[in-house]
Amino acid sequence: MINQNPVFIPGPTNIPERLRRAFDVPTMDHRSDVFVDMFLPLISRVKAVLKTSTGQVVMFPGSGTGGWEAAVTNTLSPGDRVLAARHGMFSQKWIDLCQRHKLDVEIIETPWGEGVPVPKMRAALEADTTHSIKAVLVTHNETATGVRSDVAGIRQALNDTGHPALLLVDGVSSIASMDFRMDEWGVDIAVTGSQKGFMLPTGLAIVGISQKAMEATQKATCPRYYFDFEMMLEANSTGGYPYTPALNALCGLSASLDMIEAEGLECVFSRHHRIAEGVRRAVAAWGMELCARDASLYSDTVSAILVPDGFNANDVVTHAAEVYGVPFGAGLGDVAGKVFRIGHLGAMTDVMALTGIATAEMVMADLGIPFPQGAGVVAATDYYRETNGVSLKLAAE
Ligand SMILES: *Cc1c(COP(=O)(O)O)cnc(C)c1O
Repeated sequence: MINQNPVFIPGPTNIPERLRRAFDVPTMDHRSDVFVDMFLPLISRVKAVLKTSTGQVVMFPGSGTGGWEAAVTNTLSPGDRVLAARHGMFSQKWIDLCQRHKLDVEIIETPWGEGVPVPKMRAALEADTTHSIKAVLVTHNETATGVRSDVAGIRQALNDTGHPALLLVDGVSSIASMDFRMDEWGVDIAVTGSQKGFMLPTGLAIVGISQKAMEATQKATCPRYYFDFEMMLEANSTGGYPYTPALNALCGLSASLDMIEAEGLECVFSRHHRIAEGVRRAVAAWGMELCARDASLYSDTVSAILVPDGFNANDVVTHAAEVYGVPFGAGLGDVAGKVFRIGHLGAMTDVMALTGIATAEMVMADLGIPFPQGAGVVAATDYYRETNGVSLKLAAE
């Protein structure tokens, strides 16, 4: 039992006690067999989560942002054109990172609340008859707006137009919580971190790499050292690292994979869907709307909730933290003050989600935001009761 309320920020997420304990290991020599025996099995287990059998996986000390940097610097050269939609804070930041690496980003401005615009992306690829676009960037789950994009649709557009660009995907807030199919979607680089779906503290940038992406590294001239794939993969091939690994985080990852495998990956996804659906029913019962424009875009890991005009969503976040000790996610960038976010990913249960929903009701009542008090709790509890036992539970600690 932990003496703290759950957090409802969409990362870092709640850490099960079992995973906190998994970090508590004495120093081990990372050049010893003990390390090799702990580390090597992680690779195939992470591949299973990414759903890749043809790709490779590396685990840098770092976070998701480091994974973005690795994706770009290993496969591209300064001046290369890349295609990206800007539709939230995370897609925006990845674009900024590309520009700082002197990449020429063709930005498709997209309203926040919408997903990656597949038809516009397709048109841009079609127009690029000389194949000057070297990569397409997709943020699978825009954590700022609670929007899931259609990665398979972008793959289809690349295939239909016969375009050879790499498909680089940010899966930081989807991987290990929402279905992600690296091989099936033809994803060339998949990026995530340890502190979201994997339920761990921050410490790892986890990156999946396709064979095509590995081939691209041979021509890519962006400077890189710490995040160099080749150097990492060569050391990994014998169970080693080119520098000091994040030992405790890797031990944590092993325990996290134990939990995910025990629950079953597909059950992890359906648990997230069920929890998210309860939150969405609560929001609907409040008479409020999500930032995500339609149901096909709904994220199962985070819901960004629009507050009525005349109210500042930041007040919801501040009041919840100060008065009830419950962290919600604030609105970021263009939607700052307009939305508050309920993160419901990682080590989350329906009962935990209900505490978030009830807290949001207390806060909104305190602030005078008009809504039918209790209606969200009733809608969510009804849904969770109806579907109880259908969807499985987070693996026991
Ligand atoms: C959290 C997040 C990031 C940033 O990752 P860090 O681990 O904070 O560096 C990037 N993209 C998305 C979609 C995220 O949710």
